[in-house]
Amino acid sequence: MATQPPSSAAAADLYETASQPDPSASAAGDAYTFLEFNTQGDDFEYPDFPELSQPARSAPPPPAPVTSSASSSWPAPPLPPDALPDADLAPQDSTPPASSSSPSPRSSASKSRAAAAVADGLAAGVAALSFEEPPGAGTGDDGYDYGKGDFVEHACRYCGIHNPACVARCNVPSCRKWFCNSRGNTSGSHIVNHLVRAKHKEVCLHKDSPLGETILECYNCGCRNVFLLGFISAKAENVVVLLCREPCLNVNALKDMNWDLSQWTPLIDDRCFLSWLVKVPSEQEQLRARQISAQQINKVEELWKTNPDASLEDLEKPGVDNEPQPVVLKYEDAYQYQNVFAPLIKLEADYDKMMKESQSKDSVTVRWDIGLNKKRVAYFVFPKEDNELRLVPGDELRLRYSGGTSHPAWQSVGHVIKLTAQEEVALELRASQGVPVELNNGFSVDFVWKSTSFDRMQGAMKTFAVDETSVSGYIYHHLLGHEVEHQIIRNTLPRRFGAPGLPELNASQVLAVKSVLQKPVSLIQGPPGTGKTVTSAAIVYHMAKQGQGQVLVCAPSNVAVDQLAEKISSTGLKVVRLCAKSREAVSSPVEHLTLHYQVRHLDNSEKSEMHKLQQLKDEQGELSSSDEKKYKALKRATEREILQSADVICCTCVGAGDPRLSNFRFRQVLIDESTQATEPECLIPLVLGVKQVVLVGDHCQLGPVIMCKKAARAGLAQSLFERLVILGVKPFRLQVQYRMHPCLSEFPSNCFYEGTLQNGVTANERQSSGIDFPWPVPNRPMFFYVQMGVEEISASGTSYLNRTEAANVEKIVTTFLRSGVVPSQIGVITPYEGQRAYIVNYMSRNGSLRQQLYKEIEVASVDSFQGREKDYIILSCVRSNEHQGIGFLNDPRRLNVALTRARYGIVVLGNPKVLSKQPLWNSLLTHYKVQLSVDTYQCLL
Ligand SMILES: [Zn+2]
Ligand SMILES: [Zn+2]
Ligand SMILES: [Zn+2]
Repeated sequence: MATQPPSSAAAADLYETASQPDPSASAAGDAYTFLEFNTQGDDFEYPDFPELSQPARSAPPPPAPVTSSASSSWPAPPLPPDALPDADLAPQDSTPPASSSSPSPRSSASKSRAAAAVADGLAAGVAALSFEEPPGAGTGDDGYDYGKGDFVEHACRYCGIHNPACVARCNVPSCRKWFCNSRGNTSGSHIVNHLVRAKHKEVCLHKDSPLGETILECYNCGCRNVFLLGFISAKAENVVVLLCREPCLNVNALKDMNWDLSQWTPLIDDRCFLSWLVKVPSEQEQLRARQISAQQINKVEELWKTNPDASLEDLEKPGVDNEPQPVVLKYEDAYQYQNVFAPLIKLEADYDKMMKESQSKDSVTVRWDIGLNKKRVAYFVFPKEDNELRLVPGDELRLRYSGGTSHPAWQSVGHVIKLTAQEEVALELRASQGVPVELNNGFSVDFVWKSTSFDRMQGAMKTFAVDETSVSGYIYHHLLGHEVEHQIIRNTLPRRFGAPGLPELNASQVLAVKSVLQKPVSLIQGPPGTGKTVTSAAIVYHMAKQGQGQVLVCAPSNVAVDQLAEKISSTGLKVVRLCAKSREAVSSPVEHLTLHYQVRHLDNSEKSEMHKLQQLKDEQGELSSSDEKKYKALKRATEREILQSADVICCTCVGAGDPRLSNFRFRQVLIDESTQATEPECLIPLVLGVKQVVLVGDHCQLGPVIMCKKAARAGLAQSLFERLVILGVKPFRLQVQYRMHPCLSEFPSNCFYEGTLQNGVTANERQSSGIDFPWPVPNRPMFFYVQMGVEEISASGTSYLNRTEAANVEKIVTTFLRSGVVPSQIGVITPYEGQRAYIVNYMSRNGSLRQQLYKEIEVASVDSFQGREKDYIILSCVRSNEHQGIGFLNDPRRLNVALTRARYGIVVLGNPKVLSKQPLWNSLLTHYKVQLSVDTYQCLL
């Protein structure tokens, strides 16, 4: 019997539940999907959301009166209505039009805007300030031809608009390009667009602009990151103060000034500079300007990275910005497969390298410690700018001291062995001598990029193509999507399908084990909490008992490998956990199973010489070259011996390419979390001679993280599991969930698993005794907490935060703690790194209970919480805006992950007006309303 070709209905089903990024949507490429670029999910811009038809969104404010004493201060802008304490969320559009002479809303209040000498750097000519356009500007009467705008130095590099009041210069020395404050065809203004894409953050206004040549900076600390800057009106006359959100808005000294810090408003609103700062070009100006699409903007920004002087005309040149060949469902042969995937892996590797190597930090403060292995450990904060850099244990960093009067220059590389909750990095240094432990300040840190994982993927694809024995013929054709004769593996099936040391299997788990043992290729879908790890361990147990040699067990992440290794080991099988050399100093919950631990603790007199040398090496830091040689040979032999005697070897997918396994063959391979691995990553463990493969995962949860958008668009973000499902391989679904309170599993089951998820726990088992949290309906531990605060772009320019929502997260956390929940039971999750960092800071500053309690609470991104659970989850949705949509909250898989982490209860904070425009969120809101049969929009506190 031949494998059925996929029916279009099956494929459509998959798209509905797993929801691949829509390639057409990404081609249309709204510029600002870029703000969330660490996952492929960002291509889900809700189609009918952005309102792009109105070029000019805010009208210029009325001219502000300037007093003669204000020569060093800024005139106060009219406050947008939403800056008022009692104001509802009103769009910026309602700012009074230029012709209006109505007073600013606040001037009628007693706290009227006021003078205090403030922002420096303002020319004395401010008295002549006028928001009127200079005569002739923008009318074309000046004889200026807009089509040739690029000849004027300060013309917008995108569209050519050059009205001095409407443009600003990027102040990054290597850039210095000018951009206007119009949106054109994109959802953000050109200047903001450029800053986000180029990752530039400083801006200077034009000398002929109303405010004169001014670099925007914080009045208090001089910080120039425009994404951090906002303004407040001082309580004297006509003056505004620019202050940064972190730290100055929270500096106590400033609280004593006569300023109302609660009125702080970001300078960038709705992805546009406030119009009193940089005017929005008139509709007429915009119509006459060059029309540039988001896609062209992407491309020209890409070009500027290598050629800063490139023009839009250069985009037309051949060879510029070729899109890579996309992945397909079926491949002729493994060479075609390699030809498609190799360039994608190369793109991702180049992007990863570029991004990591640009992360150097100076002025780093270090504290020193010494590890148990007597190695030097440096602790320091290596701030991650945004989602992009995910430092993980095992990463290599270089610590440098450039030298000074007291100490000569020094440097050493080391491996990250730990990341503390306080965002501190612990780096174990390779050097043991000459470490400047007497110094603490003035260090620099660079990322040392390693190509290992990418090289191994490329290597696996090559092996797949050239080595006929790399995989069985059946699997070769199956993976390439060819139609192959259906095969059954004739094994004597075990009498019972459970395994010693594991919990009893339920019916769907038994069926899964049974079916897997008879097939050369199987997919197991494990929805949240359905006992995927136990089932996998039972499968591995029975495979190992079949006597076909060692079983290889992999997963893309170290955490998943550790969990599975532990479960398999509890069946009594001999398990070796192979770790990357760079991670040997990283503590692991299965330390005793690791190869490096077993090598050190092998109790065998023959090994005594190796142990002697090891001891010497530990004490002296190094060995003589002949001893080192001898030591290495002995160690290799010992490693080999331990690996060979194992029943099961566990490692990451990339770890399967470790040279220490190069002479091993594995007929049976199980890959857990395979839906989070790229295809070439999955291939690494498979090309070691596989005849039977089990892929475990859930394509209704988040897929692999691809940093390079081009590679993601071309399909690198699709896992092998998913492609096989589309090809018609039916995954075996585990159906009983043991995690969530039944009322929490209902919505995910209906929405993502066709209602098939059954509950293995009862409401009673999820009733926490002694906790009196004020749930709106006591036996339904969930609710939606309505938020109306607005989102802001975070300091990195590439993420978001929402301050009011963060404040309410703290209130909910405090309520949980007061009601008897302990910190380790609570998880705060949010899709945005900007919000994650802000919540951590906010709780430590403003939490009303003991600080330590808040420190112990895990605040993490939704993506990093995949695979994990907490008793109580607080989900902060962040997005709240008039025009920008909900970005990667649009990805149904992210919503699925977010909703399925909690065991006992969940609180969702979000703006229902914005969220409900997306159908899935709309049904979630409806679900909450119906389930709670109370007004969902009630506030809790
Ligand atoms: Zn720039
Ligand atoms: Zn422009
Ligand atoms: Zn500041």
